Amino acid sequence: AKPPGRHFHRDHQLWTPLTLADLEAINRYDRPLPKNFNFAGDVLDQWSQKEKTGERPANPALWWVNGKGDEVKWSFRELGSLSRKAANVLTKSCGLQRGDRVAVILPRIPEWWLVNVACIRTGLVFMPGTTQLTAKDMLYRLRASKAKCIVASEEVAPAVESIVSECPHLKTKLLVSPHRQNGWLSFQELFRSTSEEHSCVQTGSQEPMAIYFTSGTTGYPKMAQHSQSSLGIGCTLPGRYWLGLTSSDIIWNMSDTGWIKAAIGSMFSPWLWGACVFVHQMAQFDTDTFLNTLTTYPITTLCSAPTVYRMLVQKDLKRYKFKKLRHCSTGGEPLNPEVLEQWKAQTGLELYEGYGQTEVGIICANQKGQEIKLGSMGKGFIPYDVQIIDENGNILPPGKEGEIALRLKSTRPFSFFSEYVDNPEKTAATLRGDFYVTGDRGVMDSDGYFWFVGRADDLIISSGYRIGPFEVESALIEHPAVVESAVVSSPDPIRGEVVKAFVVLSAPFKSSNPEKLTLELQDHVKKSTAPYKYPRKVEFVQELPKTITGKIKRKDLRDQEWGRT
Ligand code: ATP
Ligand code: MG
Repeated sequence: AKPPGRHFHRDHQLWTPLTLADLEAINRYDRPLPKNFNFAGDVLDQWSQKEKTGERPANPALWWVNGKGDEVKWSFRELGSLSRKAANVLTKSCGLQRGDRVAVILPRIPEWWLVNVACIRTGLVFMPGTTQLTAKDMLYRLRASKAKCIVASEEVAPAVESIVSECPHLKTKLLVSPHRQNGWLSFQELFRSTSEEHSCVQTGSQEPMAIYFTSGTTGYPKMAQHSQSSLGIGCTLPGRYWLGLTSSDIIWNMSDTGWIKAAIGSMFSPWLWGACVFVHQMAQFDTDTFLNTLTTYPITTLCSAPTVYRMLVQKDLKRYKFKKLRHCSTGGEPLNPEVLEQWKAQTGLELYEGYGQTEVGIICANQKGQEIKLGSMGKGFIPYDVQIIDENGNILPPGKEGEIALRLKSTRPFSFFSEYVDNPEKTAATLRGDFYVTGDRGVMDSDGYFWFVGRADDLIISSGYRIGPFEVESALIEHPAVVESAVVSSPDPIRGEVVKAFVVLSAPFKSSNPEKLTLELQDHVKKSTAPYKYPRKVEFVQELPKTITGKIKRKDLRDQEWGRT
């Protein structure tokens, strides 16, 4: 039988579907990148076929709940026909053409997945953004990207309205809501009346697929453009070895739709392996709802930011009996070893940490089948050759601290972003000799495991010592008084700069004597790590400044210390 929507020739040979083994081989450089690749046609439609022939378990492709009794379950075949309809809405009703950019600002609703897949089917370049964006954030993104269309939900429509007159390129506004609104096309209405006949576009492997904005932890978010294959094929190995996925798994990845981690953990990795994507659209994060979800639904695989695990280990986790959970992972920020140990002690489950970037996807991770070294980020992922380099681009030996970098063989690895859109200077600044530099500092040990030190900008240099904040934060969190902390440099007349810790206290310690507790924490750090790293200044705070993704914004605290605004 002909696969749906694909009747043509691949690379001038008769088209045969790519198998997972082929995709693994491409990642390992054992097979060249095909000229054309399209995630919808080459992966999703293959799972539809396998569903038909019974080669895949009867797991949904998408399983969505909202805690209010609403539930959506789609098979791959349903996802296929619904996303073909969505593709027709975008091209026929909205008049969009291959290569046009579409901002997709939706919460965790099933339409987010439909619109993303529809864009892939039609060769439109999608740009996810979180619904927490302000009007100003949106203006920046729409103008910088020259987006032709915005797909938005009701809660963001007013902010879009307030800036739309300043976005001359924006032609279409598509509203995903049961209600109509003036000036907006209604997705639901168009969707109901459109056909599900659609032929998937034959996109080139290197053709643009999406633009993801970086988290903006250190400044304005950058627009990293990804190709059809960078994530579509590049998530194969992380999906299998970091997230541990198979076609019978159900993964709950908590990331907000606006960040690349949602694409990696809630779309490409699971669907490459034919797994089910589970979504709980919670109004806001709440540990009880979170834990109850794991006890109610047969979720096998969890992925969440370290900040979530830091909150969870404050609870008595032994009280909860998780239904099917067997593989837990994290990433996006360093995971303190103490949190991993507590999680493991309380749940009996390992915690697999992955390290990655919007620009290049997952770089290294603790991988299934490899020993986990407490506090390390695991080993590099093929096709990446991860090295620690110095400021001149020379490779440093194991044990030496430097910048984490990826070797750029003779060509860029296919899983790389293609560029920061309209920013050749920033794109060029990521290159040093034969390497792409991540901007993060770390160490590789003699077994090839990577250890995170800190973002290069967060490094503290005190009396000639170089101190990475992560190690100090990890020492502090070992103390029962500390829920989390952020360690930054602070000016000092003699030493130039010293280590300062902003500390969030656990409930039983909130009323402790601050002077006494400061001494106790300093003493603890001196014992737990090299004494010169101890925080000479300690400030207790109610909360830490974080990005929408939950990352600690050390830069804000540092700027505050140094009187910069
Ligand atoms: P911006 O580049 O806009 O300042 P950002 O770097 O936070 O923001 P992302 O691409 O979302 O944007 O995040 C990638 C960065 O997150 C990495 O460069 C690293 O600093 C940090 N990171 C991700 N995973 C880990 C991890 N497991 N351990 C330590 N740091 C991590
Ligand atoms: Mg970055």
